[in-house]
Amino acid sequence: MTCILVACATKKLPIVHINEGDVKQIIETLADDSLKGRAVFTAEIDQAADFIAREFAKAPLEPLTGQADFKQDFPVFSIQPSMTEMVVDGVELPVTNGFVLCDQTGLNWNTEPDVAIDVIKSGENFRERYQACLANKQNTLICVSQDFKADFIRMKNHFDAGRILLNKKQLQQRSLVFILTDNVPQSFRINYTGVVREERLTNVVGVLPGKSKPNEYIVFSAHYDHIGVLPAIEQDSIANGADDDASGVTAVISLAKIFAKQQQNERTLIFVAFTAEESGGFGSQYFSKQFDPTKVIAMVNIEMIGKDSKFGPNSLYVTGFDKSNMGQILRRNTRGTGFSFYPDPYPEQNLFYRSDNASLAALGVPAHSVSTVQIDKDNYYHTVRDELETLDVKNMVAAIHAIALGTRTIISGEDTPSRITPISHSTE
Ligand SMILES: [Zn+2]
Repeated sequence: MTCILVACATKKLPIVHINEGDVKQIIETLADDSLKGRAVFTAEIDQAADFIAREFAKAPLEPLTGQADFKQDFPVFSIQPSMTEMVVDGVELPVTNGFVLCDQTGLNWNTEPDVAIDVIKSGENFRERYQACLANKQNTLICVSQDFKADFIRMKNHFDAGRILLNKKQLQQRSLVFILTDNVPQSFRINYTGVVREERLTNVVGVLPGKSKPNEYIVFSAHYDHIGVLPAIEQDSIANGADDDASGVTAVISLAKIFAKQQQNERTLIFVAFTAEESGGFGSQYFSKQFDPTKVIAMVNIEMIGKDSKFGPNSLYVTGFDKSNMGQILRRNTRGTGFSFYPDPYPEQNLFYRSDNASLAALGVPAHSVSTVQIDKDNYYHTVRDELETLDVKNMVAAIHAIALGTRTIISGEDTPSRITPISHSTE
């Protein structure tokens, strides 16, 4: 009896072909110095997109219906500040403590009565609240708690570099001023001018049509943009983003090849390399609006799988584990295989809201990130040291294998993960 069960279980396991040499070559290309850290609006990120498109063609995948090729282009608006002056309660703010999101006309506020005041309080989720503020339809002064200084500085750096991005609605509907302060001001004077440019961004998207359920989609994704060039440390200024997130993109390409070879997917599989994750998830937000979200059965977003997780080799964790039962499905499907999935061990880091899965989760899709990064002690995160030499390709291969096995009953249509309760605000 036991033998028969084992035999059945074994028979059910699909054969997963992973070419380790190919995995190595893909991540080598994506993390190479020649791509200069894959920052948005550079020639190098376009080269990365071309490379990913060629790999999708090799799998082979098909372009998304209605698309001529694997490139999904869309417009965004970038804001380049030229002058900002902020006086709050009679005191001039240091330039580091504020930034303005506003259209070409600039602004000149002097304790305007029609400007609303909002507060991002200590203990709240910065990223979620920031996105909610972008959805604001009224001119607003947003006071950000000093507890979010690191997040604030990250956004301010994007602002200074002209990398604050907005979609058309966000640009037109109102002006927003973010300041770093624990006090709600009684008076404020803000002068700002800047230039707005229309720019183009590109996701790379490929499809493997489902055999019997072509209108039910499963998304495998990772972001291919990174933070570009930073001040040099020991003559190295390129933030290669080998782990973040060339490792995830490598997994997406490898999974495309695995599933294309298996030819067993009853549901349609969509493989995406997102742009502009590091600028606030613009690529995934655009992508998420191109579908009826109820047709997206699951999204597995892959973030930083280049090193052993806290749980040791052959293990990954799932962000927002309890928000749907997808983590339990991944877990059950890998039982006895030597691979395991765990709940996110760093809930205080809010990783669920810090990657592209959040864009689809906001629409109710069971969308989680899987990762191995030890985020509390990875000193190479967002530095020029995030290099291929610090990764373990064998670990990546194991993670890819685990994801292929873990998702198999979702791909076959046997399992449908429970939906996530949508977040109330929209980023439109
Ligand atoms: Zn990342």
